[in-house]
Parts: sequence; structure tokens; C-alpha cells
Amino acid sequence: MVQPTSPVANSAALLAWYDRSARVLPWRARPGETVDPYRVWLSEVMLQQTTVAAVAPYFLRFVERWPTIEALAAAPVDAVTGAWAGLGYYARARNLHACAKLVAEWRHGRFPEDEESLRKLPGIGDYTAAAIAAIAFGRKAVVVDGNVERVMARLFAVTDPLPGAKAHLKALAAALTPEVRPGDYAQAVMDLGATVCTPKSPACGICPWMEPCQARRLGIAAGLPAKAEKAPRPTRHGIAFWLIRPDGAVLLRRRPPHGLLGGMMEVPGTEWRDGLWSLDEAAAHAPLAAEWRPLPGRVAHTFTHFHLELAVATAKAGPRAAARGIWCPLDNLGDQALPTLMRKVVRHALAKAY
Ligand code: SF4
Repeated sequence: MVQPTSPVANSAALLAWYDRSARVLPWRARPGETVDPYRVWLSEVMLQQTTVAAVAPYFLRFVERWPTIEALAAAPVDAVTGAWAGLGYYARARNLHACAKLVAEWRHGRFPEDEESLRKLPGIGDYTAAAIAAIAFGRKAVVVDGNVERVMARLFAVTDPLPGAKAHLKALAAALTPEVRPGDYAQAVMDLGATVCTPKSPACGICPWMEPCQARRLGIAAGLPAKAEKAPRPTRHGIAFWLIRPDGAVLLRRRPPHGLLGGMMEVPGTEWRDGLWSLDEAAAHAPLAAEWRPLPGRVAHTFTHFHLELAVATAKAGPRAAARGIWCPLDNLGDQALPTLMRKVVRHALAKAY
């Protein structure tokens, strides 16, 4: 007979819970439905670094506009990055499009089924490859995200802090991953972490792993996983230049293809650095020489590794001003692939410059 703490018993208890309590998610096949690898891949790329609640409306808009990988591959990359605007981590949108083209044009629209081949595609790392292999193709793969790490740390009372404990937690997750229904199992652990074994107040009383859970027995569940202290985020500064033509068009430019916000559109500006800029100093980086006027207030935005504070300066350009970039009518700004930061700059300028 299987012991209550054995991996088989644990995965069976979790799968039984999943059959009763699985979340209904727009990308998830319901019982009896065929899993669509395109939807699994699209959702997993969108979910990297982003919450389920934020992803859901984007996912639905994407699959309505591009219902197949061939349709997505045929779309202009700017349409894809534009539709992605607001989801953040924009390199994901460019990789998404590159991956769609590769799979549509070179693999007849079929994703590879094993992790190693999936990892060779743009934008697919270890986690996403494992998730697609397990969920879309029923392969036994160890899928470990933040939810899974938390659940493993608690189930086995691992008190070593993250990120150092990652490899140990992955090994524990691997030992629990069953041969049967690996895709459902992967989604079940994620669901457990998202709905029951939540970060601050785990609902141990309704947990299918209540019995074997060591952290619950020790009364230390809410404090796990332990995390190493992070260095505080530095603040960087820059100035954005809101240049207006007499017909109301505004100057935008495209950021370099690689790096932060790579390939996205932006209001031209200085580089972002640790020290504040004076307007005189910054004017040397403006798209053209003009009477730049500072707008009151600042635009604040937080990236993963730093806070950014942007001042905005405005000037009027002549009707035939020669400046490098794209003149965009105000009414068309919504169609541009402007990341969230730049949408904040636009809102700030519209509120203060007119
Ligand atoms: Fe998490 Fe509590 Fe379940 Fe343990 S018993 S896995 S701490 S919800």
C-alpha cells in the first residue's frame, strides 16, 4: 500500500483535487477538449513575469485577432508589439513573433514536443519549454515557477532562502512529478499555489497536501519560502522631449532593437543615468535645437532593476522641421507600439503642455 507521504500518493491527492477545483482559464482546455499547443504557448509566454488577471484580456484579444500561429506569423511585427503594449517585458512580443514565423514557416505550424527542441525556439526558456511539453503534449516535465517553489518549500519545510534554494526545490518537484497526467499535474501545482497555498495566508485547512505538509506541522508555512535580502533598486533619471509641430503631430522614434524596451516606440529623450539632468545639459541630446520648456512634475516608472524618473520638456517645431524620427498625429498615438512608460509620458505631456 502506498504511504501517505509517498510521491505517488501526493500526486494522486493533488490530481483528485485538481479534478474538483481547477481554475477556469481562457487558455486552458476543459475536460474532453483537445489541447491546442498554440494557445498553451501563447499563454505561457504572456504569463512570464505577468499575472493571470493581467494576461487574460490580452490573451483573448490575441486569439480573436490571430486565431492560429500562421495568422500571428503573417502579422506585421509592429501590430504584435502594439497589441502587446501594456504587458511589459517587450522583448517577449518580438520573440513571440519570431517564434511564430519560425514554427509557421519551417515546421508547418507544428511545435516540437520535447523540451530540448522547444528551448531552441525564440523566447522559450527552461520553464516555458517544460510547461508546453507537459501541458500541450503530455510529456513528463518538471515545471517550476514561483508558485511551485513556494509549495515545495512548504511541503518539505525547506528553510534555505531563495534564490540559493532553487535547485533543491526543483529536485523535490521532480521527485513528485508523476508519469501519468503530467500536464494536469503541472497545472494543479500552479493552481494550488495560486489559490490555496498563497504567499501570505495559506489555506491549509482545505489543502489536498495538508497531511504530508511539513511546514504546516511545524507552523512555519506563511514564512516560506525564505528569501535572501535584495539590494535596493537604484533610481535613474532622464528627460523626454515632447516636440510638437504646428499641425499637432508629435515626434516619436524607435528604440534600438535590443535591450530594455527594444524595438518599441518612444518619445525621444536623454539616456537614463544615476544623476539628475539639467535642461541645458540635456538639450544637447534633444532631437533638434529649440526653446525647450520644462513641464511641471515627473513621470515615475519602476523596472525590475531600477526606478526611473523622467522629466518632460516641450518645444514647438517648424512645419518642416527636420528631426530624426516619426511624426505622429495625436489621434494616432494609440496605434503606436508605446510601452507603458511612454504612455505615461504621453499622458503627462497631454495634461501639462497644452
Ligand atoms: Fe501550503 Fe498549507 Fe497546503 Fe502546506 S498545507 S502545501 S502550507 S496550503
